[in-house]
Amino acid sequence: MAANKKLLVLPGDGIGPEVMHEVRRVIDWMDRRRALSFEIEEGLVGGGAIDAVGSPCPDETVEKAKAADAVLFGSVGGPKWDSLPFEQRPELGILRLRKDLGLFANLRPALVMDPLVEASSLKPDIVRGVDIMVVRETVGGIYFGEPRGVETLPDGKRRGFDTDVYHEDEIARVARVAFDLARKRRGKVTSVEKANVMQSGRLWRAVVGEVQKAEYPDVALENMYADNCAMQLCSRPKQFDVILGNNLFGDVLSDLAAALTGSLGMLPSATLGAVDPATGKRHALYEPIHGSAPDIAGKGIANPCAQMLSFAMLLRWSFGLEEDAALLETAIEKVLAGGLRTADIMQPGMARVGTSVMGEAVLRELDKLAA
Ligand code: NAD
Repeated sequence: MAANKKLLVLPGDGIGPEVMHEVRRVIDWMDRRRALSFEIEEGLVGGGAIDAVGSPCPDETVEKAKAADAVLFGSVGGPKWDSLPFEQRPELGILRLRKDLGLFANLRPALVMDPLVEASSLKPDIVRGVDIMVVRETVGGIYFGEPRGVETLPDGKRRGFDTDVYHEDEIARVARVAFDLARKRRGKVTSVEKANVMQSGRLWRAVVGEVQKAEYPDVALENMYADNCAMQLCSRPKQFDVILGNNLFGDVLSDLAAALTGSLGMLPSATLGAVDPATGKRHALYEPIHGSAPDIAGKGIANPCAQMLSFAMLLRWSFGLEEDAALLETAIEKVLAGGLRTADIMQPGMARVGTSVMGEAVLRELDKLAA
């Protein structure tokens, strides 16, 4: 089969290259056993890119990302670059990619895998079976709205202010992402805002309702105040399928939902752009939610699962390869059920292993599943 799926792989800094190495082995396996024919390029980003070419996200990387069907990102940053001025820091690499590719919808699954049910800080009965997707708007709202700043008043006191602002088109496009996802899942969207006290929240609720009525009558829509949603996530998380929120509420609630699952080393994410009407394609970047973990970098003990699960999301959302995505997810769950654990998810009675043994175990499970 001709190479037809262009991937840009950006391993980044710290544990990024270590966990990405395990994904490259999975990609080789997929190529070999499932004939998926990926065409892979690598690029520079983050601290490594600053050292090599003086920029956390060189133009060449942006061009490669634009030409690719999907970007698989590791993580960036580390103490070596911590003293650089804000505008030169490695973390700007990911921000530039999000901006230049127009990635406005962040998807974060919070899935409690059965073997890890004890890793949650909540009772097993409450979290067993939790499978939530949080969709967060990422390029608008209070993190970017103008005016913003800190000013000194005539009396010498300081005043800080931000603006939560949304255009209806920005709300509608991220709402469509949430409704499309719900259609492929359990058919329910919970849209969160503070329509009781915020004008932008009133507009959010109105526009999401209009989009649902006109385009997604088959999907159930529930509106919920963001504070209530936080409470419900801790008390009855199984009621949720897709949660949709603006930049601020989505940020907070996706972290809260992630905490239900118990480990940073297990959590993937995706950020999607708009569908190009001419090609039907959309820019997309997939990354684990953890950072470069400088405290464990180079020790061979990082958990590669979040990076692998990010690749599973890529297979599903960029290429529609649901079966292959599910195969990889099942292989990881089986490895965990078999008792292997990296240090971050270690539990009594389990076998502690490093990054490459975990990766090999996943490949073995893939072999068995595909046999
Ligand atoms: P972090 O996620 O890197 O680490 C937090 C803790 O979790 C650490 O103790 C780490 O060892 C552990 N951890 C994280 N991922 C793990 C894994 N896969 N396996 C095992 N343990 C894991 O967050 P931090 O320490 O706040 O940040 C470190 C650096 O990463 C900083 O420079 C920060 O700016 C950067 N960062 C980058 C991204 C990104 O690239 N998207 C995201 C978050 C943080």
